[in-house]
Amino acid sequence: MQKGLLLVISGPAGSGKGTVNAHLLKTGRFVYSVSATTRAPRPGEVDGVNYHYITREDFADRIANGGMLEYTEYCGNFYGTPKKEAEEVLASGKNLILEIEVEGAKQVKSKFPDAILILLLPPSFRAQETRLRGRGTETEDKILERLARTREELKEIDAYDYVVLNEDGEDLTAAEDILAIVRAEQHHLRRNSDVATRYFAD
Ligand code: 5GP
Repeated sequence: MQKGLLLVISGPAGSGKGTVNAHLLKTGRFVYSVSATTRAPRPGEVDGVNYHYITREDFADRIANGGMLEYTEYCGNFYGTPKKEAEEVLASGKNLILEIEVEGAKQVKSKFPDAILILLLPPSFRAQETRLRGRGTETEDKILERLARTREELKEIDAYDYVVLNEDGEDLTAAEDILAIVRAEQHHLRRNSDVATRYFAD
């Protein structure tokens, strides 16, 4: 059995990563890691599905107990990947998606050098701003904070292995691009170093 791939997908607010991830999950080939966060749920978000919504005290306890694979503070709230769930999925051989920002992505890469880091971007900063205002889920302050954060995040672009553009209305194409990356990675020789042994053992 091939080991499950650890896929990190980052994207600034408005990159459409939720929609693109939904396409990936529909293939049945990935498990989505549900993060813990101290931010309040947005309308329509469901506890245990979008996030585990927990208090700051709970979050601090989990860090202290080594329960987070990675974590960060983003725009005033904490976000982290519950370690036990992620490890269980990987041990089962399934492909795991972490939808996390760049600080967490770097922590994952240093713990799991085999992880694949993908950055999903809107076609331009201007398009991102239009999308964020259009979705109307954040106040003006939050929009400006997230746009400022994007400028910071893009300074870390070298942390990533791949970049995928999510053009307007082309989220399916972006998901297909990611599936192509996954397929190529599964065939990479470094993930198949025992191929000769298996070839002759048959
Ligand atoms: P949002 O509040 O828009 O749901 O998420 C804000 C940012 O936090 C996004 O960039 C999202 O990818 C990131 N994020 C969500 N969960 C995690 C996590 O578990 N760890 C890290 N490092 N970032 C996360």
